[in-house]
Amino acid sequence: MRVNDIIITYGSDPSAMTETLLNALSIESLITDKDSAIVLKPNLVVAATPDGGATTHPEIVVAIIEHLKGRGYHNIAIVESAWIGESTERCFALHGYHEISERYTVPLIDVKRDQYVKQRAGGITMEVSKTILTCDFLINLPVLKGHCQTAMTCALKNMKGCISDSSKRQFHTQGLHRPIAALNAVRSADLVIVDSICGDLDFEEGGNPVETNRMFACRDSVLCDAFAASLIGFSCQDIPYIHLAEDLGVGSSDLEAMHLIQLNEPNEQPVATPTGSASYLSLHTEERSACSACYGTLIHALKRLDEGGRLQSLKHTISIGQEFKGVDDPSRVGVGICTKGLGKSLAGCPPKAIDMIEFIKTLGEPSQ
Ligand code: SF4
Repeated sequence: MRVNDIIITYGSDPSAMTETLLNALSIESLITDKDSAIVLKPNLVVAATPDGGATTHPEIVVAIIEHLKGRGYHNIAIVESAWIGESTERCFALHGYHEISERYTVPLIDVKRDQYVKQRAGGITMEVSKTILTCDFLINLPVLKGHCQTAMTCALKNMKGCISDSSKRQFHTQGLHRPIAALNAVRSADLVIVDSICGDLDFEEGGNPVETNRMFACRDSVLCDAFAASLIGFSCQDIPYIHLAEDLGVGSSDLEAMHLIQLNEPNEQPVATPTGSASYLSLHTEERSACSACYGTLIHALKRLDEGGRLQSLKHTISIGQEFKGVDDPSRVGVGICTKGLGKSLAGCPPKAIDMIEFIKTLGEPSQ
């Protein structure tokens, strides 16, 4: 796997999708020493199940452990800390991590109880988990989701679970973006496997999950987040820590140089209509057998348009889905290759949210 590769797969079975990604990226070419100390860093920010859109599916962690153990790796640990005010132990318990730990003889490290080493980068001093700093290979397992302060959280921000609570408090007073970039300059992941199955629309604690049924893997955390941002309708300018991390040498945000490897088509999953605060967005869509990756991406695009005050002026209903294949209707507009027979259509299977936004902004009045 090259450093500018992003490998993406679609589906709804986290175990099978993880195994597919691991086979595609060839872990033995990345970790050559079987005695390496390997850390798995999921997102367990709160004690809530993954279907709420906040936390990593534990099946992904199990699939990675089984894949690694099956290839002779034996020195594996799961490392995380919940956000301030939440007990990591409670999160471990709710997600079945104690059973996972016992079954596979993999220790659980609560960063809140770990030793810390003072580190400094980008003008920021912080206390970083000793386990994280001393491991040989760090596999970051973020959830791609919205965030009320930084717009998005994915690979770079998930590293915040690797510092002391005291440093977390300090990060907030420093505006999050510079410290998050600095933390990744101290230690960023060697491999990122993103859980983008049902990340939350706009809050890191979940509650408004949007199904997109995809996972992707990459080695460069900056590239990962630049790509992730485009999937949910942001540019890198919307999320300052991406360029700040790039400036500190963490990686490259150059999506032109990215090599995207798509392992399957996103056409196997039925769509789930968004609930909660995301439900009003679906009123602007006409969905006919859309894939969840496509429909969830459209929901994110509509959310970004709403945040920019552009949704109320949208005169069109956006058509989407496989039942629009072969439909020739000049009065309709749609997104995705399935809608190419409509009056206006955005290509892609599925298109990115950032492209959907630009396309929807160009739409004029509907034809009579
Ligand atoms: S363009 Fe059609 S087939 Fe492709 S992801 Fe969208 S709905 Fe599915």
